[in-house]
Amino acid sequence: DLPAGYDPLTVDTLGARLGGLADVATRIGGDPGAWDVREVGDGNLNLVFIVTGPAGSVVVKQALPYVRLVGDSWPLPLKRAFFEYHALIRQAARDPGRVPQVHYFDDSQALIVMEFLSPHTILRGRLIAGQKTAGLADTLGRFAARTAFRGSDLAMPTAQRKADAALFLDNVALCDITESLVFTDPYFDAPRNHHTPELGPVVATLRADVAMKTQVQHMLTRFASHGETMLHGDLHTGSVMCTDDDLRVIDPEFACYGPMGFDLGMMLANFLMAYLSQPAHRSASDLPAFQTWILSVIRDIAASYGDEFGHLWHHERTGILYPPALFEDQGHSSGPALADRLAAIWQDAMGFCGIEMHRRVLSLAHNAEFETIADTALRARLEARNLMMGRDLILNRADIATPGDLVALAQRYN
Ligand code: ADP
Ligand code: MG
Ligand code: MG
Ligand code: MG
Repeated sequence: DLPAGYDPLTVDTLGARLGGLADVATRIGGDPGAWDVREVGDGNLNLVFIVTGPAGSVVVKQALPYVRLVGDSWPLPLKRAFFEYHALIRQAARDPGRVPQVHYFDDSQALIVMEFLSPHTILRGRLIAGQKTAGLADTLGRFAARTAFRGSDLAMPTAQRKADAALFLDNVALCDITESLVFTDPYFDAPRNHHTPELGPVVATLRADVAMKTQVQHMLTRFASHGETMLHGDLHTGSVMCTDDDLRVIDPEFACYGPMGFDLGMMLANFLMAYLSQPAHRSASDLPAFQTWILSVIRDIAASYGDEFGHLWHHERTGILYPPALFEDQGHSSGPALADRLAAIWQDAMGFCGIEMHRRVLSLAHNAEFETIADTALRARLEARNLMMGRDLILNRADIATPGDLVALAQRYN
């Protein structure tokens, strides 16, 4: 049931197929037959091409009717390109300049032509390589806060918010991936799981922990039924591209309405995994300083998120929630209400953070920072710390009330 005419692009056919798009052809320049086309997709799901001509380069991302990582035995709807496109244009409005500019979208070909980010590289690889990015925490914290706030009933006209919630509610297949691969598979012997063999005893401990599994299901209940805002849905360090002083967020095909703490928690988890895996990637002399920097990024992301959310609360609270008519207009502070909202987001984030730390070691899609550690005994030792910290977060998230508490916990597991 592919759309009529849908056909995956190849390096050889791309020029002929996209050369007729005037705007795209002008950006690239020259003869489409002579464009330099490279397939660079390193993600789990889609085709990504860099197309270069005399005038410039663009990126062409096209969905496949199956999961790239697994093959055609696992079909996946092409419509994910539609959700990615709709998320990108909303994110561009909510945090201008933070996502690649969209040049062209073709629904039936499930393809997006977008700005080529260069010389940006994927943040996950930079963290493995020990590269810092100036302003990283501020920019990421602001992105998460702005998209959370501006996509919610705190800010949007409610008819528009409901229309968007309805639009993204149809992203069933990608939500299902999150509901299964993130929230469920790590906790039983699911067919697509794999883990470092030495982890067997730790995995058995986690799967036997009924109190923890119950908390994970409470978090899944939040994810599945608490449609607070339009999430990025896949906001890990592989969805961020940086230079030494710029940062862009890519790949929002998992966008859906969900709890605000989800994006924040997933992002923090990926910095924690970068932190806990550093002993395998840094020399003993470089290790302390780089780990300290990662912890400062974690603290600063949380601070920047809180600052920006507070700023928007005081300046853009135009939706149906906590209306100024009930607070400021009557001379009452809404500060305590804001503090309650931020505390609830943080509590959710801590739970989602712990779950993300689990699934990246136990479920289908693993992280390069652990996966590239060739010495499996060392890998298992670091992964085990990560798993046990995740468990602590899931069980004790109510006691991890501040970013300082989170950093102190990470230091205990390091
Ligand atoms: P997937 O959905 O398959 O994970 P991504 O959107 O994450 O695909 O893209 C896969 C890879 O392609 C990224 O890791 C990055 O290296 C490259 N890439 C994607 N978008 C861009 C872009 N706009 N500019 C430059 N490189 C990009
Ligand atoms: Mg990706
Ligand atoms: Mg592994
Ligand atoms: Mg993706």
